[in-house]
Amino acid sequence: MTEKPALTHRLQGFGASIFGEMTALAVATGAINLGQGFPNYDGPPEVLSAAQKQIAQGNNQYPPGIGVPDLRLAVSEHQSRFWGLTYDPDSEILITVGASEAIAGALLGILNAGDEVIVFEPLFDTYAGLIALADGLAIPVTLRSNYGERFQFDPDELRKAVTPRTRAILLNSPHNPTGTVFTRDELQTIADVVIAHDLIVISDEVYEHLTFDHAQHIPIATIGDMRDRTITISSGGKTFNTTGWKIGWACGPRHLVHATQMAKQLFTFAGGTPFQAAIATGLRLPDSYFVTLAQDLQTKRDVLLTALTEADLNPVTPQGTYFITTDIRQRFPGGDGLDFCRQLPDLCGIVAIPASVLYTPENQHEGEHYVRFAFCKQMETLEEAAHRLRDWS
Ligand code: PMP
Ligand code: GLN
Repeated sequence: MTEKPALTHRLQGFGASIFGEMTALAVATGAINLGQGFPNYDGPPEVLSAAQKQIAQGNNQYPPGIGVPDLRLAVSEHQSRFWGLTYDPDSEILITVGASEAIAGALLGILNAGDEVIVFEPLFDTYAGLIALADGLAIPVTLRSNYGERFQFDPDELRKAVTPRTRAILLNSPHNPTGTVFTRDELQTIADVVIAHDLIVISDEVYEHLTFDHAQHIPIATIGDMRDRTITISSGGKTFNTTGWKIGWACGPRHLVHATQMAKQLFTFAGGTPFQAAIATGLRLPDSYFVTLAQDLQTKRDVLLTALTEADLNPVTPQGTYFITTDIRQRFPGGDGLDFCRQLPDLCGIVAIPASVLYTPENQHEGEHYVRFAFCKQMETLEEAAHRLRDWS
């Protein structure tokens, strides 16, 4: 019997996740894993013990489909406390299995076949596959860095990317992997396009609390009337160092949240009851927690930034997230990031992520010389990585 190809045509051309491949490489070689973005330290003790308490109290069955009421209230309080945005916890907030499920729910719940979604590339790895699953089309607008300056888009390119089929702009700020935090002017440019063409925005803000120096995260929902057209997505993974808990949320006007929920309920229905309650505790931590989180990460960023600069890897200073994007051309003949990352464990005992895979297939050349390093690691891990980079230099 000949086997029929099992994979849907919608997913053909999408490879296995680069994060899995590079983490497996780190495990196999014993190299320091600065690839997949997860901290190798724990979240705040209050949050961890809240989850333990919930489990011990027997709070272990399905939560409501839209999420535990106290977490929806805590998300609503958080949006108001940090960003001045008001959402009704019963109809404008949806709890999801990580930001990943919120993004999937929004795209699959809102898009119709043939709809176009403008994405800023390099783009987080699930975006293109999810748009394809929804039978939509991802239209890239490339963020570029001139001579090591912050990555940014050309407003004309954005305006030209719009067609009569455009339905949405999928935004991610602070941006993984470049570390760009979109400015008010850039967000206004996006908002102007959205209003002019009656679009919606799906705004992935998972790194909302991880900004450095003078960069300030601005949710696009706070610009003009954008709240009415924006579904804002975040999760507890990055803010509370609990990436494995996968507790996320989506906030927005009722019709967008409802559409997201209609798809989301088909994926998992709901999940993570004790962790939902614990993330509510995290969201209510005092301001000092959020300030210290960013300050500590900035110190880590600086250690890795110095080491990468000294290794002639030409890093672009990130304004946010926990990633540094480097340009390897000076150091690595040919400048192919995927080759470089496959050799890096042997070259210097470190694993990183080739950014080329985070570009749409036709634009891989834009990113083939960029490689991403994560700095959400204990200081001793970063110092050891810096030492290895120095020895290799
Ligand atoms: N969006 C971006 C930009 C990310 O970097 C991540 C990281 N995992 C996610 C979404 C997914 O978040 P979660 O782990 O909460 O699903
Ligand atoms: N967001 C993390 C990263 O960009 C993890 C992604 C993943 O494991 N799918 O590295």
